[in-house]
Amino acid sequence: MKPIVPFVSEASEDERKAWRTALPIALAGIAEVKAFDTLSEQERSQATVAIVANPDPSKVAAMPNLVWVQSLWAGVERLTAELPQDGPLIVRLTDPQMAETMSEAVLAWSLYLHRDMPRYMAQQHQRIWQGHELLLPAHRTVAILGLGKLGIASAKRLISNGFNVIGWSRSEKSLDDIRTYFGQDGLKAVLKQADILVLLMPLTDETRGLLDSTAFESCKPGAAIINFARGPIIETPALIAALNGGKLSHAVLDVFDNEPLPPESPLWSNGSVTILPHISAPTITSTASQIVADNINHYFRTGCLPESVDRKKGY
Ligand code: NDP
Repeated sequence: MKPIVPFVSEASEDERKAWRTALPIALAGIAEVKAFDTLSEQERSQATVAIVANPDPSKVAAMPNLVWVQSLWAGVERLTAELPQDGPLIVRLTDPQMAETMSEAVLAWSLYLHRDMPRYMAQQHQRIWQGHELLLPAHRTVAILGLGKLGIASAKRLISNGFNVIGWSRSEKSLDDIRTYFGQDGLKAVLKQADILVLLMPLTDETRGLLDSTAFESCKPGAAIINFARGPIIETPALIAALNGGKLSHAVLDVFDNEPLPPESPLWSNGSVTILPHISAPTITSTASQIVADNINHYFRTGCLPESVDRKKGY
């Protein structure tokens, strides 16, 4: 008999429907995927691995023998906050296709800023015919904050499009073609140089509120920012002050403290802000389901788990 893998999710009905179709296909021959609410008492207690997407933590706790949970999302700040430290290990989704999709978004919005598109759009609204100096990509420094799976893929795309790329991470790194920095001193040096800052690090205790008024004071005048990571990494009032005061030229925001962004948010009407509805790199059901299936198959065959989240670091 095939083992049962519970699927625990409070995601939207549309999302759950898509996963309920894709996961059983990918896991056919490996395991039977069953929605948590359809499990018997015995099935709950026998489960050693579950697939989760915005799960209700009390449902995860109701499976006492879970060894690990496979997240369907790449960002796991909610799971690390809601699941107990001594609970099941957390495996986040790492999908090379997602890194490709994110690197495409980083390139697209870096070009948007590099070619002054927000400024030309504003000029069009006022019927102003005026060109501005064109810089070469090589004269634009793009700083990637977070040199993980998504950050490195994005850095490579920017480099192949001629940009000068620097990067910042928690630990020291040595990478071809990218000047790298780490730690608080490193961050200051990066902020001073960057024309475009791209946020691609996880939300943790260390990164929450990292970009505050002090950080913005260290930025190069006229720098722009792209946040494709998580909203609370930036202090929104400090960002608005830096944009309105002219220290920063523009912000492309895909992630927010509260999503969907509430209609009363002042960000909507700020002409120096481009708002995206968390679309820079959505999980792609087909490729993600295959990765989840491979991880679970490997676990059932060998007893080995994929790399899990370091609960001390938070990612
Ligand atoms: P990884 O875990 O592969 O990489 C994270 C990077 O951030 C690492 O380089 C890490 O440093 C760095 N980092 C973590 N903490 C700090 C810190 N305190 N100071 C400096 N650097 C730090 O993650 P991914 O690249 O896969 O994903 C990054 C984030 O992107 C996710 O956590 C998620 O929040 C977000 N995301 C957003 C999506 C969207 O659609 N908007 C889609 C998918 C993900 P080190 O290398 O030293 O460990």
